[in-house]
Amino acid sequence: MKKSAENLSFPLKEKSVAMLAPSFVVDFSYPNIISQLKGLGFDKVVELTFGAKMINREYHKILEHSKELVISSVCPGIVETIKSKYPQYRKNLIPIDSPMIAMAKICRKIYPKHKVIFISPCNFKKIEAENSDYVDYTIDYKELKNLLKKHKKKKNNSETFDKFYNDYTKIYPLAGGLYKTAHLKNILKDDEAMVIDGIDRVMEFLDNPDPKIKFLDVNFCKGGCIGGPCINSKLPLILKKKKVLHYLKLAEKEKIPEESKGIIKEAKGISFKSDYLNK
Ligand code: SF4
Repeated sequence: MKKSAENLSFPLKEKSVAMLAPSFVVDFSYPNIISQLKGLGFDKVVELTFGAKMINREYHKILEHSKELVISSVCPGIVETIKSKYPQYRKNLIPIDSPMIAMAKICRKIYPKHKVIFISPCNFKKIEAENSDYVDYTIDYKELKNLLKKHKKKKNNSETFDKFYNDYTKIYPLAGGLYKTAHLKNILKDDEAMVIDGIDRVMEFLDNPDPKIKFLDVNFCKGGCIGGPCINSKLPLILKKKKVLHYLKLAEKEKIPEESKGIIKEAKGISFKSDYLNK
């Protein structure tokens, strides 16, 4: 793959921004990871949570008016499965970017001279990145662990994300994180939405869909991204989930510099319409 970590050399020479998905807390400690990434040569470190917030707004707009089944498209494992095995559902996938692509578009606007590098919990994100003009490279969690071992740097607990920090979307890597954070309860009845994690169970639904369901929030991996194949941790899912919830609690109390917060007007003018679904 052209955009994989093996085509990068560290410490990075070119100005680069690292985009971290909030599942990182399962494998890496916060806030140390920020200074560790800066030690690898990243000039900026941002979190995907602001991209997730922007995507939630788009989902809300679509679901407000949709009449037939709509399937979340934030997980490329689901998108690729539908493309290859269930093409009849392709039209039901929400035609909106994933938080990774949304955040990459925002980074391109704010840091136009930087390379955009996504730190990934899975290989499917690498496929999505290969199909995108917005993400330059991906490094998975296993690769990052090895890189950090090789390029040790003194940890610094005082660094914060450079940009786009948002609290409640930190639960996005948990199964149902999108449904819980997109404020859909006011437009969908409880029995019109369904959260399914694990591709076997998703396929069971697709084989025998429930006609009542208008929105499917689905993840390829069991537990959501915390169960991603490139995660190093061998902890049971329940403990991985605990780590994400602890991180959310921490974020609620944390003092974040005003200039680091994600502000909707920073994404003004960006279209979050997805190209990936048609590729
Ligand atoms: S659920 Fe699994 S396949 Fe889907 S984006 Fe998350 S880690 Fe990747």
